[in-house]
Amino acid sequence: MGPGQPVALSGDHAHYLFNVMRLQAGAFVSVFNGSDGEWQAEIAETGKRGGVAICRDQSAPQQNPPDVWLMFAPIKKARTDFIVEKAAEMGAARILPVQTQFTNSERLRQDRLQAHALEAAEQCGGTFVPPVDDLQPLSRVLDSWDHARRILWADESLVGAASTLAAAAPGPWAILTGPEGGFSPAERERLRALPFVTPVSLGPRILRADTAAVAALTLWQAHLGD
Ligand code: SAM
Repeated sequence: MGPGQPVALSGDHAHYLFNVMRLQAGAFVSVFNGSDGEWQAEIAETGKRGGVAICRDQSAPQQNPPDVWLMFAPIKKARTDFIVEKAAEMGAARILPVQTQFTNSERLRQDRLQAHALEAAEQCGGTFVPPVDDLQPLSRVLDSWDHARRILWADESLVGAASTLAAAAPGPWAILTGPEGGFSPAERERLRALPFVTPVSLGPRILRADTAAVAALTLWQAHLGD
């Protein structure tokens, strides 16, 4: 994006701008593409299916997200949507749904989750939209993990025995949270043995899977975030 550059307005956005808000040529809208900050763009063409706006001035610089990823086991649809939405609001730089042994969903609509991340960024005035990966087995993700990024593994069995996020070393980190049924004994054994994994407790109470993801990001932000 840059001064004078055209931006296509399509899909739900075009419907909202032209049919709901009834904006006409000459009106200004805020646009962002996830890498060039936010721009004020003047609508130049409107149509039933879409339109075009021309970038005029940059209204906000590109934000750099905090360097934390969220890796989580998807749960029921609405609660998975909630996790992705909140992770995007909190500035997770990447969202990785992982299939664990007790994960019930075998398929996930990545495009739908990506749209939720975009909507969350829009609602909060963010200019960064975290990429949402396709669902992958946790075992495969761990097999090919880049050890330079460490994993903060939240597990309720560690309550009282393990470190909290307050004691974790500087990152970069990826947070890992489990499904409704938690991690299996085999997964716990493997995670405990990996040198790049730090087990953490999120406090003395067992949290629901969606709460745990948000709580872990909040604690990360409070203790390690920038
Ligand atoms: N059965 C509930 C549900 O339906 O959501 C609780 C699920 S809990 C087992 C799901 C995940 O949240 C766990 O795998 C773990 O990653 C995280 N979690 C919950 N409470 C936690 C705690 N106190 N400390 C660390 N992790 C926790």
